[in-house]
Amino acid sequence: MKRLSDLDLAGKRVLVRVDFNVPQDEGGAVEDDTRIRGALPTLRAILDAGGRPILMSHLGRPKDGPDPKYSLRPVAEHLAGLLGAPVVFCEATVGDAARACIGGAQEGTVVVLENTRFLPGETKNDDGLAREMAALADVYVSDAFGSVHRAHASTEGVARHVADKAAGLLLAREVEFLTKALDEPERPFVAVLGGAKVSDKLGVIEALLGKADRLLIGGAMSYTFLRAQGFDTGASLVEEDRVDWAKGVLEKAGDRLLLPSDHIVADKMKEDADIETVVRGIPADKMGLDIGPDTRRRYTDVLAEAKTVIWNGPMGVFEMAPFAEGTLTVARALAEATRNGALTVVGGGDSVAAINEAGLADRVGHVSTGGGAMLEFVEGKTLPGLAVLG
Ligand code: ADP
Ligand code: MG
Repeated sequence: MKRLSDLDLAGKRVLVRVDFNVPQDEGGAVEDDTRIRGALPTLRAILDAGGRPILMSHLGRPKDGPDPKYSLRPVAEHLAGLLGAPVVFCEATVGDAARACIGGAQEGTVVVLENTRFLPGETKNDDGLAREMAALADVYVSDAFGSVHRAHASTEGVARHVADKAAGLLLAREVEFLTKALDEPERPFVAVLGGAKVSDKLGVIEALLGKADRLLIGGAMSYTFLRAQGFDTGASLVEEDRVDWAKGVLEKAGDRLLLPSDHIVADKMKEDADIETVVRGIPADKMGLDIGPDTRRRYTDVLAEAKTVIWNGPMGVFEMAPFAEGTLTVARALAEATRNGALTVVGGGDSVAAINEAGLADRVGHVSTGGGAMLEFVEGKTLPGLAVLG
């Protein structure tokens, strides 16, 4: 994979695939600009090298062509405020109109093209569209880690038609952290996995089983494992059709895989539910919604010794205060491990939201901008948007 610094950018049109798929309020204002900020180092590096950045991104899931609700215009305006350099927004994504808009932009300006998903060929990775995108560029840079697991025209197809291409600084950093953690981890290497569905993460669990010294399991997925061990799980979320799979994993993992030993349970998934802590089995009318205090202590102890940590998936229904403590405890334990020199990586939309809420995002090693992409990377899958840079 080539780096930005391997390319000659002076005077070049540098087409950059960024991930500006940001949450917006009703009026279109950007609610969380983490992803926009993430692209700034790459944009500044291109400008400093005398290149002319032209940015492409998707935003939301527009159904049938252009839809003002999903325009990148407000995002471009937000970028201008952060960048301290002029930003020009183009109402077109490709073609003569885009070329004219790009041609009219002064040197030192960043151009933002309209939403790639306004074009039907984008998600189909249409080759004609990919060529049209490539025609706008002398150089292609990918900085959208969150989209590299998708073979779309702007993430994969376009790069086939541009000879000079590289990973941007953000993408390179993502790949560096994950590669280091997975391929040459300092040990003990601890993986923390949670979240809603075990079926979303079968491949990730299997892959990490082959690499990590310890797997700490929490969240709803733990109930499928506990059922496999024969415990009563009450009304907790269990994926019946994965219980046999879970038995196989438990057998292979032995004492490397840790499960919750106690639970915060309630009769409903509500903020005002009556909660109690139970050890071992869960009563028939209750559901497990967070890991309990004993589990929190056990997991914190394991994380205190860790030299490498990958975390994906909350330990409970962290969106509701009564069930947030398990997730917050893991977030704090990661910050503490980081302080003691461990390499720590957090990924997944909800996990990242949780660490942001805990105010600890800048106290862990790396917060991944890719949810699905990170999981596929951990699984060892080939990511089309990365492979095409090679
Ligand atoms: P990520 O986005 O970090 O990959 P997931 O999407 O897999 O995480 O899972 C996050 C969701 O899992 C959250 O909405 C959370 O409320 C839910 N969840 C966690 N634990 C439980 C539980 N015990 N019961 C029901 N839902 C849970
Ligand atoms: Mg999620």
